[in-house]
Amino acid sequence: MSPLVSGKIHVLPDDVSCRIAAGEVVERPASVVKELIDNSLDAASSLITIEVEEGGRRLIRVTDNGMGMNREDAQLACQRFATSKLQAEDDLFRLTTLGFRGEALPSIASVSRFSLKTVPSGSPIGTDIHSEGGIAWVVQDYAGPPGTKVEVQDLFFNTPGRQKFLKTVSTEFSKISYTIQQAATINPQIHFRLLHHNHKIFDYPAVSTFQNRLVQMYGPAFLKRFLPLTQTAGPFQLTGFAVSPHHARTSRIPQEIFVNGRPIKNTTISHAIHEGYKSFLPKGKHPQFIVCIWLDPQMLDINVHPTKREVRFSHPEMLH
Ligand code: ADP
Ligand code: MG
Repeated sequence: MSPLVSGKIHVLPDDVSCRIAAGEVVERPASVVKELIDNSLDAASSLITIEVEEGGRRLIRVTDNGMGMNREDAQLACQRFATSKLQAEDDLFRLTTLGFRGEALPSIASVSRFSLKTVPSGSPIGTDIHSEGGIAWVVQDYAGPPGTKVEVQDLFFNTPGRQKFLKTVSTEFSKISYTIQQAATINPQIHFRLLHHNHKIFDYPAVSTFQNRLVQMYGPAFLKRFLPLTQTAGPFQLTGFAVSPHHARTSRIPQEIFVNGRPIKNTTISHAIHEGYKSFLPKGKHPQFIVCIWLDPQMLDINVHPTKREVRFSHPEMLH
């Protein structure tokens, strides 16, 4: 029989395809933290607490005081491609939220022991919805303060092949910490707290300006070493801080780029910054910067990378 007619193709069962798809979004504990923080930010929270055990391998718990969800929404939120943030494809170019794919919660749930407890503001009773590996969902009443608490235990317990790729507790923890630092940098009006095994790692109460948040994070010497940036050029608005060349160090930390409030990697912007510094930097010293670019979302494609780490600009030369 010809191999072309032997009927070798079959559709994967839902749980298998979901675990495979989760590979794109959930690479490691820090990716879970990023997705959960994005959701808390989108829910207009003013306090976000992240608790972690064993570098996030045993437990990640993100608690917010945002708008919460009613029961129907809580159940929908755990399904693939269920989102409150987008109606039609065109909305991608008008987005004001960090999320839009409706993939994070089901992906995370499919590779962990997952629970979501949520109470919408003004409601006396909330919902606890949990599962093991995204199957056999259980829904119960829950009493708690308004907001949402997501607990992710034993990440990759059912995908041992992926667990093998995790690094040491301290490496995974530092990636988590860095992810939260990025979110804290660009959201100074939000109170962020991080605890590891119940020890406070950092606590950044809400402040009124970006500059105050940077001082909170990097200490008062920050303002002696860094110069403020503000410029509008065509459709682009630039804000941020860049190290003055004679204070540059051998370290590349921080080198942060935010576009419309998202931390991203972008070679056009990095190249432009390095070009700008070029002749001013002593050999072996690197620029340090926190650069925020704001532009009309119509000029930006954010749907090019599963974790939204990369974006595409409609006019990269002009941006450079
Ligand atoms: P997305 O963020 O892309 O919409 P998610 O799977 O991350 O997809 O979340 C699905 C939906 O669940 C969101 O659109 C939002 O309506 C709701 N949701 C998730 N997390 C929270 C939260 N912390 N507070 C309130 N609503 C939430
Ligand atoms: Mg999301």
